[in-house]
Amino acid sequence: MKNSTIAIDTKFPRTDAYGAIGMPVYHTASYEFETAKDMADAFCGRVLAPEYSRMMNPTVMHLEDTVKALTEAKNVFAFGSGMSAITNALLVFVAQGKNVVTSKHLFGNTVALLNNTFARFGVETRAVDLLDLNAVREAIDENTACLFLEIVTNPQMEVADISALAEIVHEKGVPLMADTTIIPFTQFSAKRLGVDVEVVSSTKYISGGATSLGGLVIDYGTFPVVNMRLRFELIPNVGGYMSPHAAYMQSLGLETLDARYRVQAQNALTLAKRLKEFSTANPQLLTVNYIGLEDNPFHDLAVRQFGKTAGAMLTIDLADRKACFSFINHLQLIRRATNLFDNKTLAIHPYSTIFGPFSGRQKQEMDVRDTTIRLSVGLEDVDDIFEDIVQAILDNK
Ligand SMILES: *Cc1c(COP(=O)(O)O)cnc(C)c1O
Repeated sequence: MKNSTIAIDTKFPRTDAYGAIGMPVYHTASYEFETAKDMADAFCGRVLAPEYSRMMNPTVMHLEDTVKALTEAKNVFAFGSGMSAITNALLVFVAQGKNVVTSKHLFGNTVALLNNTFARFGVETRAVDLLDLNAVREAIDENTACLFLEIVTNPQMEVADISALAEIVHEKGVPLMADTTIIPFTQFSAKRLGVDVEVVSSTKYISGGATSLGGLVIDYGTFPVVNMRLRFELIPNVGGYMSPHAAYMQSLGLETLDARYRVQAQNALTLAKRLKEFSTANPQLLTVNYIGLEDNPFHDLAVRQFGKTAGAMLTIDLADRKACFSFINHLQLIRRATNLFDNKTLAIHPYSTIFGPFSGRQKQEMDVRDTTIRLSVGLEDVDDIFEDIVQAILDNK
């Protein structure tokens, strides 16, 4: 079956007593057992049956099963947020004295997690230029816990050569963990590109219009420690498992993901092309950065890895911060908000917001510019989105 069908027709963990078409929401903390032995088997992991909703919940399991079918993963674990998924996945591999090799281009909270939180526990972060494969090779040593990367970085829009990086780390027995939030896993196979553990903020494309927070760890089974530690150590001990209500909304979102994504990616491509055209006669718009544009330096690599579509995130650059703030203030349709892949188009100035807590020097090192606006393109009519952007640029004073 094709992904759009799998997303809708994956079977429930058990047949529903009433034949409900939608997966029931199991708002319960705990589950009763027939016998003492059944109870002991569930608690000791000899049988996978829910005993307490911090570890397992049928509504969450249904979301996990659907994602498992879509990605051909060995195991999928759902968490309360993307950051919770990332934290738990990294906790599988890190320990005092270990290091994480990663990019200098990373989501703001992931940078802070590594550099502030994990650093306090003696875990070192080695931020390198992932376009320099030799630098990556040299950064890895016998204490490297994993290579962590984002498939398309934001706001720099750098695309990682996943297969090339996978080859380097696998030669050394090191796992590759990839944050694939920016392109939905229904569009490409991270597994085939050599990713061992995929992490996703399901708050974004999957939630179906920013309905809820969520995160997924998609385990391809190449490092059995992932299943063991997440299922039997980290999920019980750290307690970041997804709530049944969030899983219900995210399962609904997953059902419409394919239809929504096709429109959003097409809107983003149309918008990028029209803005590029507009910029030739309007020098206030300095650059349009979208990996779906044929003249983008990462376009060929993106097509090779992710297929025809290039996601719904793009950036534009204006003259300076003043022009960016004025642009944001003049928007009439587009929302001044963070988040990605809402049904609504969103605009943000990352330098002063998401990366606001970082110093000017840190931002320079991360290539986060004061002139960049990030756009997440929604489901509105693309003519209306384009017109709003144009009026906000031209109204700039
Ligand atoms: C949003 C995002 C996260 C964090 O996810 P939350 O669900 O907000 O916790 C991590 N990585 C990327 C690339 C993101 O866009």
